[in-house]
Amino acid sequence: MKFFLAAFLFIAMQSSSRGQVALQYELTLFDSSIHVELLFRPTVKDSATFTYGVLQFGGQADIFKGLQNVQAQSPARVKIDSANRKLTFYYPGSDPVKINYDVFDTRSENTTRSQLFRPMIMKDYFFTHGVNLFLTPAFEAEGSTIMVSVEWKSKPPFPVFYAFDPDNDGSRIAVTTADSIAFRLLTGANDLFIKKFSSESGSNYLVLRSSGMSATVKQEVENFYLDYNAVMRKFWNDTRKINYSLVLQPYLNVNHSMSGISFGNGFIGKYNKPDSLALGERMFVISHEIGHYYLGGVSAFEGEDNIGQWFNEGFNDYLTFFNLVHAKRMNAAEFDSAFNQLFRSFYNSPIRNTPNNKIFENFWLLGDYAKLPYWRGCVFAFYLDNQLSIATRNNKSLRDLMLDLKALVAEKDKKEFTNEELINAVSKYLPRADFEKALQEYIINGTPIAFKNSMLLPIFHIELKDQTPVLSVANKKAFEKHFQFK
Ligand SMILES: [Zn+2]
Repeated sequence: MKFFLAAFLFIAMQSSSRGQVALQYELTLFDSSIHVELLFRPTVKDSATFTYGVLQFGGQADIFKGLQNVQAQSPARVKIDSANRKLTFYYPGSDPVKINYDVFDTRSENTTRSQLFRPMIMKDYFFTHGVNLFLTPAFEAEGSTIMVSVEWKSKPPFPVFYAFDPDNDGSRIAVTTADSIAFRLLTGANDLFIKKFSSESGSNYLVLRSSGMSATVKQEVENFYLDYNAVMRKFWNDTRKINYSLVLQPYLNVNHSMSGISFGNGFIGKYNKPDSLALGERMFVISHEIGHYYLGGVSAFEGEDNIGQWFNEGFNDYLTFFNLVHAKRMNAAEFDSAFNQLFRSFYNSPIRNTPNNKIFENFWLLGDYAKLPYWRGCVFAFYLDNQLSIATRNNKSLRDLMLDLKALVAEKDKKEFTNEELINAVSKYLPRADFEKALQEYIINGTPIAFKNSMLLPIFHIELKDQTPVLSVANKKAFEKHFQFK
């Protein structure tokens, strides 16, 4: 028994050291590339396959051209399948395999997508997602998680931030899992500003490039960030200890007010000018993205063709309206004007009738295809929120349904609900057949809702002008009250 315990302790100690790390990365920053030395300790026999980049991530079909000079030290060898972005290493025994490669900044144009989804590597700044710097194992380690370590051979001469280890400034080794590293970013810059906010609810990190940013803007961003997180926790009754990072950086020579993407535990937003980052449309973008983190525990079934986007993006948009009004950061007039803009874009789009399961095949063409699930889902959420409140005489709102859905998926491995489960959940409040029909028509078939006043709370007035709904808030007090919750 004693021996058994001792052996167990020994194993436990081993696994916390670098000895159990299957992929040990050492990085060196150059002017337009990062040199990677990788020590791979095989956990599978004979050969192991990795992928580099993700085809659909930002539609960067040629991302593989940034991976260059791949070498495996003899006796190991490597076979590269560029078309499928795959690298297979062959090795005779179980000895560690030494691998070298370079990741180059291969952006050929200054666009929002190239600066959000491709590695940006410069003398004084770098930005890359893990999946574009590290190799993603296409195999599973028997019965264990694949551990990864990252360190700089010589640290860049400026602050560094890892989303997978936000307290680490790059001066020491970071140890994490291969899963966690893939969709978390790394960045560094001569003007990188990192601030950590700790509270009983966990840690929030704010990561900015501060050049040209006034103290006022910095303070506004900080206030909004902490405020909005508190509102979202309240909305979702969320009691987790969180570890969330908001990263804001300027686009370089791209004139776009703001866009970005969520990563595992945060959001990277890029903008053209370092002003009004916590106001108007930009505030909405940041809020939407923080929303994903909290909505992360509930999603609609996605399948192969991302058929749940109407919920995962569209409901997220509506919940952003909901919580911004709740937080008193959006008033009735602003809600009105934003919603009417949405109605105009949606109802006048030539592709407004595209069935839900046909959107994805065109999604990365962008234009309206990328926006349709947002518009359609947001408008449907607005409709449903009104329907729920009407049916329950203002006792319930979309928030109650969201909390029901969160509870429904809580025990599942994949936090997805099916259409059937959604219909069941809604039928607690609305006649089942009515909602089943609405979901089929407005989401699955893709017919835009022909709004009538009777579909909405008396808070709102709606009329169709040339088939496009025009919304106005008829009762400001009742409007504000609708979005309150305890
Ligand atoms: Zn989104």
